[in-house]
Amino acid sequence: MTSPETTETPETLDVLRRVFGYDAFRDGQREIIEHVVAGGDALVLMPTGGGKSLCYQIPALVRKGTGIVISPLIALMQDQVDALRTLGVQAGFLNSTQDLDERRVVEAQFVAGELDLLYLAPERLRLPATVELLDRGDVSLFAIDEAHCVSQWGHDFRPDYLMLSGLHERWPDVPRIALTATATETTRREIAARLNLEPGPGAKTRHFVASFDRPNIQYRIEPKTDAKRQLLRLLQTEHKGDAGIVYCLSRNSVEKHAAFLTENGIEALPYHAGLDAGTRAANQARFLREDGLVIVATIAFGMGIDKPDVRFVAHLDLPKSVEGYYQETGRAGRDGLPSTAWLAYGLQDVVNLRKMIDGGEGDAAHRRRQSIHLDSMLALCETVECRRVRLLDYFGQSGEPCGNCDTCLTPPETWDATVPAQKVLSVIVRLDRERRQKFGAGHIIDILLGKRSAKVIQFDHDSLKPFGVGTELREAEWRGVVRQLLAQGLIAVESNHGTLLQTETSGDVLRGERTVMMRREPERPATKAAKAA
Ligand code: ADP
Ligand code: ZN
Repeated sequence: MTSPETTETPETLDVLRRVFGYDAFRDGQREIIEHVVAGGDALVLMPTGGGKSLCYQIPALVRKGTGIVISPLIALMQDQVDALRTLGVQAGFLNSTQDLDERRVVEAQFVAGELDLLYLAPERLRLPATVELLDRGDVSLFAIDEAHCVSQWGHDFRPDYLMLSGLHERWPDVPRIALTATATETTRREIAARLNLEPGPGAKTRHFVASFDRPNIQYRIEPKTDAKRQLLRLLQTEHKGDAGIVYCLSRNSVEKHAAFLTENGIEALPYHAGLDAGTRAANQARFLREDGLVIVATIAFGMGIDKPDVRFVAHLDLPKSVEGYYQETGRAGRDGLPSTAWLAYGLQDVVNLRKMIDGGEGDAAHRRRQSIHLDSMLALCETVECRRVRLLDYFGQSGEPCGNCDTCLTPPETWDATVPAQKVLSVIVRLDRERRQKFGAGHIIDILLGKRSAKVIQFDHDSLKPFGVGTELREAEWRGVVRQLLAQGLIAVESNHGTLLQTETSGDVLRGERTVMMRREPERPATKAAKAA
C-alpha cells in the first residue's frame, strides 16, 4: 500500500524503470500516463520520436486486464510484439497476416487474461466476432495509434478508423487514449469530434499537446537545379558515412537515385511498394541494423520506424503537405543529435503535384483540401522567415527564430519582381487567346528570352509583342520567377498539359495595382561534381 507520506516509488515510475529500463519520464509522459491509469480519456499530440508508445503501454501494464492497441501498421505488429516480449511484456496481435490457428491461440490467451497488450488492425473491429471476443475478455484500455487516420482533413485518412467512434458507447467504462504526431488545430478538432474525445467538464477527457519543436533538426529548402548532384554534394560534404533517408515521389525515381548513389560510392537501398515483400523487409531490416546505410524510398517507407541515428532526411520531390513533410523529416535525429532535413524543389514539382491532385481520385472537396495542403507547403518553401517558426506556426505553436535553419543562417534577400511578373503574365494572357494550344513554362520563357525554338516558329510567336522582352534574366531565374508566381497563386497551372493560366489576382499585377516581392535565389557556384556532369 502506498500512502502519501511514504517516499515509495509510484507504480508507473517503477514500471518505467523495471520493465523498460528508463530512469525518468520524458516531458508530458507522466501526466498522460497517470490520467489514463486513473481511468480518464486522452488525446495525445506528440511529435514522432516523442515517446507515445509508453503512454499506453505503461497504463496497460498497471491497469487490470488487456490494453487493446488499434494500429494501421500491420507490417510492424510482429516487430512491436517481439520487442515487448523481450522485455517480458505479454503481448500479442491479431491481423490479416495470420492464419486461423495462429489467431485462435492469441484469442485464447486474451480470453484467459494472459495478455497485457493486444494489437489489432482497425478493420478487425468491423467483424462482429472481434467485438464478441473483446466482450469475453477483460479490456483495460483502448489505445488508438496514428489517430489522425480518422481525419478526412489530414493526409492519411482510413475509413476503418471511423468505426472507432463507437468504442465508448460499447465500452463506456474503458478509458481511451488516442495518439498522433500530426497536429494542426483543424486535425485535432476533427479527431476529437469523430472519436468523442472533446475535453469536457470534470476533465474525464483531456488533450495533451507536446511541443512540436525539434531543435536538433536543421531545416533547409533549396531550389532544385540538378537534384542528383545537389543530393550527392550534401551526402559527400556533410553526411559522409551517415545513415539517412532520401524520399522520392515515384518508384522509378527511387530506383534511379539508389543506383546513382551506389555508383558514387554511397551504399543505398531502394524501398517502394513495387518491390516484393521479401526485398522490402530485407532492405528495411538492413537499414535498421547496419550503420551508415542510406535508404531511398517513397513515402511508403518510415511509418513507425524507430531508428534513433538517422542523420538526414532528404526530399528530392516536394511533399504534398506540411503534415507529411513534418512527419517524414521527423524521422531524423530521434537521438537528439544534430541532423539535417533537406528539400530540393522546383517548378516541375508544382506542376506534377497539381496534376496528381486534379487527376487523382476523390470528389471536388477532397481535391480542394489537397490543394490547400499544397499551398501551405509552397508557402513554407518560399518563406523568408525562419522555417521552424513557420512550421510551429502551422501546428498552432509559437517559437522564436531558431538561428539554425537556412533562412536564419543566410537570410534570403527579397526583390521587387513586379515587372518580370507582368512580363510573364502578358505572355500568358496573349497565349490564352489561342485556347486550344498547350503552352507550358518552357515555351513562355523561350518567348521572353527571344529564343526562336521550333515551337515558337511554328506558332509564329516571335511576332508576339513580349517576344524577347525578358533578356534581363537568365533561364534559371525565369523558372524561379514562374515557380514563385505559382506558389503565390498569381498564376495557375492546368493539370493535363502544364499550361500556365491566369488567376483572379493576375489582373491586379498586370494593372500595376499589386507589387510582387520574391525571394532572391541563391547564386549557386558550380561545384567540381557539377562541372564533371
Ligand atoms: P513515438 O511513438 O512518439 O514516435 P516512441 O514511443 O517510439 O515514439 O519512442 C521513441 C523512442 O524513445 C523509443 O526508442 C523509446 O523507447 C524512447 N523513449 C520513450 N520514452 C522514453 C523515456 N522516458 N526515457 C528514455 N527513452 C524513452
Ligand atoms: Zn530558423
